[in-house]
Amino acid sequence: RHIDKEQYTVSHDSQVMVRGDGQIVSEVVSSQAEMLTQYGGVFPKMAEEGHAKAIDKVVSEAILQAGVKESSLSAIAVTIGPGLSLCLRVGVRKARSLAKLYQLPWIGVHHMEAHAMVARLMDRQLEFPFLVLLVSGGHNLLLLAQKVGDYIQLGTTLDDAIGEAYDKTARELGLDLARGGGPAVEELALEGNPKAVNFSIPMRNIRDCNFSFAGLKTQVKLAIASKAITTELVPIKDADAEDRQLRADIAASFQRVAVLHLEDRCARAIEWAQSMSPIKALVVSGGVASNKVVRQRLGELAEKHGLRLSCPPPRLCTDNGVMIAWTGVEHFKLGRSQPPPPYDEPEDVHLDLRPRWQLGEIYTEGQRHTR
Ligand code: ATP
Ligand code: FE
Repeated sequence: RHIDKEQYTVSHDSQVMVRGDGQIVSEVVSSQAEMLTQYGGVFPKMAEEGHAKAIDKVVSEAILQAGVKESSLSAIAVTIGPGLSLCLRVGVRKARSLAKLYQLPWIGVHHMEAHAMVARLMDRQLEFPFLVLLVSGGHNLLLLAQKVGDYIQLGTTLDDAIGEAYDKTARELGLDLARGGGPAVEELALEGNPKAVNFSIPMRNIRDCNFSFAGLKTQVKLAIASKAITTELVPIKDADAEDRQLRADIAASFQRVAVLHLEDRCARAIEWAQSMSPIKALVVSGGVASNKVVRQRLGELAEKHGLRLSCPPPRLCTDNGVMIAWTGVEHFKLGRSQPPPPYDEPEDVHLDLRPRWQLGEIYTEGQRHTR
C-alpha cells in the first residue's frame, strides 16, 4: 500500500504516531528514569514490569491525542531488537495484538537503524549514501548507509560504548544522575580544564574504525583514586570548591579524550567510506550525540572533509518513539512490512524477537585498509 500524507504509522517503543509525510501527530512517553537514579542501573525484570504496566494507557493516550481511529492507521512499527528480550516482548505483543485486531500490517524495527534513520526525518536534504556514527548507551557504530535497510558496518566497539563510559564517569564522580550521566558530565566539564589530566587516547596505533572505552573508564577510576576524591561519601553538591574543581577537571579531561577517540575513528571511516561511495554527509545520532562538544567537534571534522554534518535535535538523539515510527514509514514506503496477523492467531504465538541483531554487513575489506 502507498503511504501518503493522510496515512499514519504508530510505534510502540515509546508511543508515537508519525504521518507518512513525517509529521509527528502525537507523542506520549512513559519513562523509567527513576530506576536509574534509585538503583544505578536497569534491571530487566523491573523494566519489563514497568513497560507492561504502562503500555496500554500510553498507547491509548497516543491514539487519543492524535485524534485518529486505530482503523485508519496504515501500519504499526515496533522495536524487535536489539535489547532485553523481556522488554522487547512487551512492545511486540502489544503491537501484534493491535495489528491483529485492526488487521494492520506491521514492521519490526532495528533500534539502532532507527537512531540513524531519524536523521532523514529532520533533514529532508539527506540523501543516500552517507556515513553514520551512532553513539549511545549500548552501541558505538560506524556505518556506511547505502539505502534504507542497506548498511555496511565499518566499526563497532570492542568493549563498552561511549554512553556507558559517560554514565560510569558520572557515577564515580558522584554526580546527580537525575537527568542521566552524560548530561551531568557534560555540564560539570564546562567548569574544568580539559588538559588537566593526561588520559591516553584509545587505540591510537590500531588502524581500523573500531572503538574501545573500557581502558578510558579505568583511567578515570584511577585518576579519581589518585586524587583521593571521596565520591562514595560526598555527592557533588556537597563537595568543597577544591574537590569540585578536581572532579570538573577529570570530567573535562575524560570528555576531551573520549571525543578525540570518536574523531580519530570517524576520520578514518570517512576515508574508507569515500573509497566506496560518494558520501556527502556525516550523520551523528544516539544519546551521546546530544552532547554539544560531540556535535561541535564532529561538525568541524565533517567540514574539514567536505561533508555536511546531520545531527538530529537532542530529543531525537536519545531514545524516542518518533525514530521507530519514522523507520517504520521508511520501510513501509518501500513495501517492506509484515502482513496483519490472522484473527485466529494464538496469544502465545512465537515472536520474532532479536535481542542480538547485527546491523549491516561487516566491512571485511577493512582488513586491507589496516595494513
Ligand atoms: P542503545 O541505543 O545503544 O541501545 P540506549 O538506548 O540506552 O542504548 P540512548 O538513549 O540512545 O541509549 O542514549 C543514552 C546514552 O546517552 C546514555 O549513556 C547517556 O548518558 C548518553 N547521553 C545522553 N545525553 C548526553 C550528553 N549530553 N552527553 C553525553 N552523553 C549523553
Ligand atoms: Fe537507544
